[in-house]
Amino acid sequence: MVINKIFDVAVIGGGVAGAAFLFTLARYTDIKDIILFEKYEEVSLLNSNPKANSQTLHVGDIETNYTFEKAQKVKKASFMVSNYIKKFGKIGEVGFVRDKMILAVGEEEIVKLKERYEQFKELYPYIELWDETKLAQIEPKLLEERQELIMAIGATGQITTVDFKKLSESFVQHALDTDKNIQMRYNEEVTKIERNEEGNYHIVTDTTQFVAKSVVVNAGSYSLLFAQAMGYGLNYATLPIGGSFFFAKEKLLNTKVYTMQNPKLPFAAVHADPDCTQEWNTRFGPTAFALPRLERYHSLHLKDFFNALNIDKDVMHVYLDLFADKTIRSYIFRNVLEELPTFGKDVFVKDAQKIIPSLKASDIEFADGYGGMRPQIIDKSKRELLLGEAKINESGIIFNMTPSPGASSSLSIAMQDAQAICDYLGATFDTQKHQSEIVESSL
Ligand SMILES: Cc1cc2nc3c(=O)[nH]c(=O)nc-3n(C[C@H](O)[C@H](O)[C@H](O)COP(=O)(O)OP(=O)(O)OC[C@H]3O[C@@H](n4cnc5c(N)ncnc54)[C@H](O)[C@@H]3O)c2cc1C
Repeated sequence: MVINKIFDVAVIGGGVAGAAFLFTLARYTDIKDIILFEKYEEVSLLNSNPKANSQTLHVGDIETNYTFEKAQKVKKASFMVSNYIKKFGKIGEVGFVRDKMILAVGEEEIVKLKERYEQFKELYPYIELWDETKLAQIEPKLLEERQELIMAIGATGQITTVDFKKLSESFVQHALDTDKNIQMRYNEEVTKIERNEEGNYHIVTDTTQFVAKSVVVNAGSYSLLFAQAMGYGLNYATLPIGGSFFFAKEKLLNTKVYTMQNPKLPFAAVHADPDCTQEWNTRFGPTAFALPRLERYHSLHLKDFFNALNIDKDVMHVYLDLFADKTIRSYIFRNVLEELPTFGKDVFVKDAQKIIPSLKASDIEFADGYGGMRPQIIDKSKRELLLGEAKINESGIIFNMTPSPGASSSLSIAMQDAQAICDYLGATFDTQKHQSEIVESSL
């Protein structure tokens, strides 16, 4: 087959990460020819879909698993998304300004919450301490049948909720509005990437082939498989963790309510999210459980699944360490029970009662068709489970693994990749324009 055109950059995957990268490349660099492959018919039908994730813009103000240093980084990354929404997206369509809080239950958590407030108010000057009187006014359900004392750190007037699919569509549209040559290849699955003798990348899809000088792979759980097929990232393995949700039968809360995290179980604390796909009905979750899937509602080739697990003695060591911890073990078992049809919600409701004590199993139902997969990465050389994103950057090719809060960090990841690709191709990244439009906080 004769291939005439050589693209400057090929992007594999049209979730929020791929779309954010496409936008950043098109608007802030002088790179001309870009091609994006998405195997489904639209952008963001998997994890970046609002039915798959919690729709939270993770800023670090209500996530107690972040240290101050981590929160500084998360804030900078996620403010790029709020800056983008204010400048290019539509408030009320892509991002939504709503109230949010972290709820502390019982004296021990209240002490920690107050300490956190004192430390973090410098970073987030808009946060407030909400006592029971205030909470009774804004969210009376939090107090109904409550035995313990409660208190919250709350915030108003911020973008708290994002429809990451609409955000992806906006990124793509603004990329297409530039004068760059962009080909969007929907319904086209990349099956192989190879480096040829000239140092370019040969991209084989299920229908044809393309060549690009550089590649960024944002293919969710498949990014690592592509890397490993090329001999990179062999020290990583994937632990696919599913997350499901439950809907309240009637709307119970107006505020996004997070709970204090157990440091051993980051991102595992239940929260209640008013859902932008369901007229702000209350969605509880997510659960977290190991699932033999790489995409939540799609079948997979078993070979891909076993390749992703990449099991050997180091990976087994990480699994055994997880199981050896009593808190983690009981959390895993409870989450397996929560997935059982009919009985699952009887188990789950006990977690959700931390938020609304009067909630009964009959008030909630399993959110069918909702939920996603978190491709958590295991670093085999360190024998540890990584909790955030991971990146493999080889000459002219980058692979991103983006578990939570990857959607909130999408523009920050895109910035790093666009700068790296510009360095590789000898192209220019317009730092000043990017800084003034995306980075500078409008707080
Ligand atoms: C339960 C749950 C709750 C979450 N809540 C939040 C939250 O509140 N806030 C937050 O910031 N993050 C949250 N996350 C994380 C967030 O959803 C992800 O970090 C983010 O969506 C990842 O985006 P992505 O583009 O990397 O991956 P994806 O959205 O999975 O996109 C990958 C894309 O690559 C395509 N693709 C894969 N293989 C190929 C191929 N071979 N050829 C062509 N295309 C391919 C796929 O079709 C897909 O469109 C949550 C995740 C889960 C599971």
